Amino acid sequence: MKIPLLFSALLFLTLSCTKAQNKEASTHSKNPYYSRTDTSKLKVSNAEWKKILAPDLYAVAREAATERAFTGKYYKTDTKGTYYCAVCGNKLFRSDAKFASSCGWPSFFEPARDNSVVYRADDSHGMQRTEVLCGRCGSHLGHIFNDGPPPTYKRFCMNSISLDFEPDTAK
Ligand code: FE
Repeated sequence: MKIPLLFSALLFLTLSCTKAQNKEASTHSKNPYYSRTDTSKLKVSNAEWKKILAPDLYAVAREAATERAFTGKYYKTDTKGTYYCAVCGNKLFRSDAKFASSCGWPSFFEPARDNSVVYRADDSHGMQRTEVLCGRCGSHLGHIFNDGPPPTYKRFCMNSISLDFEPDTAK
């Protein structure tokens, strides 16, 4: 009777490890458009995204909702790593450009690449703002303001839910 018990324990351990390793993959397993290497622009309808994305991500990314300040998963993060688009995997920001902002949302002074993001005038809610969208999939990320730190003096004010963070691996 000892062998089946040992076998069960080993099977459980194996499954647990596999589950942890596949966490990243399973998060996006229903999303055929997610890629951290393919930089080609996506043209996907909101009807299609609605079938793929979790409702809270869809509301921010495709309907420009804003998560409540001080509630997102990355506003206090200062770990070194890279932030990707949670919708399509596009590389958006490096932690080197992240700064501690009192606004309650993750804030960066520059994108990872010039074409990481695109901009659009936004006069909703009675304000004149500039919306920041993913350069690959066009999803809403947040807004840009002119009160950031040097060297750019810009503040890319982002919704945590629109970002996927990957810590740098120790070398
Ligand atoms: Fe994207």
